[in-house]
Order: sequence, then structure tokens, then C-alpha cells
Amino acid sequence: MSKAESTGKGDPGKIATSEQEWRSKLTPEQFYVTRRHGTERAFSHPYHQEKGAGMYRCVGCGAPLFSSETKYDSGTGWPSFYAPASEEAVSEHEDRSFFTRRTEVRCAKCDAHLGHVFPDGPKPTGARYCVNGVALELDPGAHGDKSSE
Ligand SMILES: [Zn+2]
Repeated sequence: MSKAESTGKGDPGKIATSEQEWRSKLTPEQFYVTRRHGTERAFSHPYHQEKGAGMYRCVGCGAPLFSSETKYDSGTGWPSFYAPASEEAVSEHEDRSFFTRRTEVRCAKCDAHLGHVFPDGPKPTGARYCVNGVALELDPGAHGDKSSE
């Protein structure tokens, strides 16, 4: 056994928290977005224009979701990334509301609703992860890996 993880058994790392616990843990807006699949108003959150380096973590559970290295300005008013921090970081779900078909993106660990992914992003992935700023928490100390500059 080489893993230093503290998870006991069964589903590894999945966090199950009750509705009430989320309410006490999150601000009303964070709760609305992450647990009620809400959407913040465009340009309402400072992260849409945040340029600082670091790791954007889940407000619900602190899991690393998106690196600043994949962040770009999509002009939509929401923080946008062309890739998640890792493939396991987020889970994708089909969302058929509003008569359109979109792909919802959630935190793979605590199921927090983050936003949607669209196929009109920049290279190299061509994906646009359109994420609510309130669902994220920038951790300036955490770097994926330090590249040039
Ligand atoms: Zn989470």
C-alpha cells in the first residue's frame, strides 16, 4: 500500500454532504449556483477577468478544478478555460433544459454544479469550459507546473 489517502472504503473520494451542511458551508450565492444549478450574472464575478496564476479550486470541497494556465478571455463574462485541471477533476452530464442540449460540468468530487462546456473553445482542445466564478476559489499558491517566464 503506497497511497497516502485517508479514504476508507467504497467510492473513493466522493463527498456526500447534506443539503443543510451545504447551506451552512456556502454563501447563498454559492449555494444557489453549485447546489441549485444556478448561473451567476455575466460579468458579475471578478474571476472572469482574473489573470493571476494559480489553481482554481471547488468552493464546495477544495478539489483542484482548473489551472490558470488554461484560462482565457472568452468575452462571455464568465471565467473560461479550455481544459480542466485533470480529466478526473470534473464530470460531464447532458443538460436538456431550455430545449437546447448542453453539457453540464460538475465537480467530480462533490457534484457541485460549475457551468457548461461548449465545443467552440480555442486550441489545443477546442473546448470552452464556461464556469461560474462563485463556484471557484483561486489558490494563488498552487501551480500545476512552473513553465517559462
Ligand atoms: Zn467539489
